[in-house]
Amino acid sequence: MNLIIKKNHNISLRQISNNSIKVLYRLNKLGYEAYLVGGGVRDLLLGKKPKDFDIATNAKPNEIRKLFKNCRLIGRRFIIAHLIFKSEIIEVSTFRAKYHNNTLRSFTKKTNTGIVLFDNTFGKIEEDAYRRDLTINALYYSIRDYGIRDYVGGIKDIKLKVIRLIGDAETRYREDPVRMLRVIRFSVRLHMHIEKKTEKPIFKLSNLLKEIPSARLFNESIKLFCFGYGYLTYIRLKKYSLIYPLMPFLLNNLSKKNTFFLTEIIKLSLKKIDSAMTKKSIRCPSFLFASLLWYPLIEKIQMLLINNTLKYSRAYSVSVNYILKKSAASTGIPKHILIVIEKIWGLQKDIEIKKKNETKKIIQHHNFSPALELFSLRATVENKTDLKKMVVFWNKKNTFLKKNINV
Ligand code: ATP
Ligand code: MG
Repeated sequence: MNLIIKKNHNISLRQISNNSIKVLYRLNKLGYEAYLVGGGVRDLLLGKKPKDFDIATNAKPNEIRKLFKNCRLIGRRFIIAHLIFKSEIIEVSTFRAKYHNNTLRSFTKKTNTGIVLFDNTFGKIEEDAYRRDLTINALYYSIRDYGIRDYVGGIKDIKLKVIRLIGDAETRYREDPVRMLRVIRFSVRLHMHIEKKTEKPIFKLSNLLKEIPSARLFNESIKLFCFGYGYLTYIRLKKYSLIYPLMPFLLNNLSKKNTFFLTEIIKLSLKKIDSAMTKKSIRCPSFLFASLLWYPLIEKIQMLLINNTLKYSRAYSVSVNYILKKSAASTGIPKHILIVIEKIWGLQKDIEIKKKNETKKIIQHHNFSPALELFSLRATVENKTDLKKMVVFWNKKNTFLKKNINV
């Protein structure tokens, strides 16, 4: 183990959330080992602001629950404790042991392809380090001596800016294919290089993502696309053949024209989300999926109109149901997001028809901003002058109303 003492690293207590410090002190005081680990330590070492703070300890989940009344135990694959504070949730995980596959004591359960389904064997800090995904994510910061414990060469990789999986890459991906997405996410977000042995198996194993429950994939999609690096992440996921297992609906056999529009709108909507990060005007997952699914929706409507004698409104509602149901199943979009997507789509017609007496009502609609944003992307992608003119009209109207009536 490599111990980096206080004066040899740049992490100071001031940069760590007060709640995390209190939790760490409390666990230490009661005789448990407890460390800050994961993204918190990694990002501070890289001079970035951590998204959240994770803690690793030798206290068992039930013991943590007894100690903290704001604790909720979650997860099946591995039980972890969530400590819920007003401004943040701190994840506290118990040190995991090495796999005990061949012993009778085994609590680990795997699928035929090797994905770990259930694993609640607890161990020591060294074992825990080897069970983490990347070397840079396995650094432990102690508030007892302010030192960082490194069992897997994470400090060196932080300095070299290298993304390296711990252990044999193929085995680690087979245990949990989501690690492939994490490798891509961190390589983009942290501007790091993916080491050769970590990179190589991804092309071959990308399809394993199809075995991951869609709700977990949806959560990963948000982390991949809604935090300011969506477009670059998309390009990299494509390079490693990960985008279609993650979003199978993008592979739909659309007409040549719709395929072109889809390709363009993917690029524009991701760039829009990246640049709007600070404004928070676009709620990412709903706007993102409303944009990505728009041309598959249009294609479905066009097919129904060609092959049947349906009225447009009927073809529209049948297609909306079909596309939303299908993508909910394959990408795990939860119901409350599906509802917003449907509203954003519904507003497209209102924006286009522009009924005279209804403009104010439309602008005041809760989802007007993302709906106009989608409309504007469509105008650009399809390069239609009349749509572009409407975008100008609605933007003017919107600014005017906001100024004069305080919408
Ligand atoms: P961020 O929170 O900034 O997205 P993070 O690295 O903290 O990044 P979390 O999802 O919060 O990511 O996970 C916390 C830590 O748990 C990770 O740093 C890593 O050590 C470990 N971990 C998370 N997911 C996995 C996984 N699939 N396999 C192995 N270890 C994992
Ligand atoms: Mg984290």
